[in-house]
Amino acid sequence: MSTIIQKLREYLDKAEAEQLSQLDRLVASTGLPVVRDQKTGALIWVDVRELRLRFQLSVNRISKFIEGLSQERLYYTVCKRCGSVYFPPQADCPKCKASDMEWREASREGELITWTVINVKPASFAHNRDYVVGIVRMPEGFNVTAWVDADPRTLKPGMKMRLVVGKRAGEGYLTYWFRPA
Ligand SMILES: [Zn+2]
Repeated sequence: MSTIIQKLREYLDKAEAEQLSQLDRLVASTGLPVVRDQKTGALIWVDVRELRLRFQLSVNRISKFIEGLSQERLYYTVCKRCGSVYFPPQADCPKCKASDMEWREASREGELITWTVINVKPASFAHNRDYVVGIVRMPEGFNVTAWVDADPRTLKPGMKMRLVVGKRAGEGYLTYWFRPA
């Protein structure tokens, strides 16, 4: 069985191969990698050199959050100086500039505020079926934006939602999402 990284690469390579062969034909016929935007008609240079980019983000200062996921727990931070609450957790308080945070474990239930169904997906999520993203208000006073594992027709504002931490099918790494409680 191929991994998610292999599957994603195959999907993106296939989509890109078609674009690149169009670009090849264009360069051969006009001598320039210049196309017209389909909507506006504006001229666009499509660089033939490929830039590969994989994001790397430091999680060193929120290592408690990473450890929490591996124990299937979700942690947030509270500023010890001004009491502001942060999720996703922050190591520095943007409000009072202090860097003295207390780590606390989030409870497992919240209330659904709103949600949307994602039909047009970013390329890196294109292998997924349409999915629901919701905002859930947690009793500790912060909101969590995450996928909602439910039929969107059954959702209602104020519904109790259960937080799940685990490996989501499709990615295979630890993350968090909600389902109706
Ligand atoms: Zn603060």
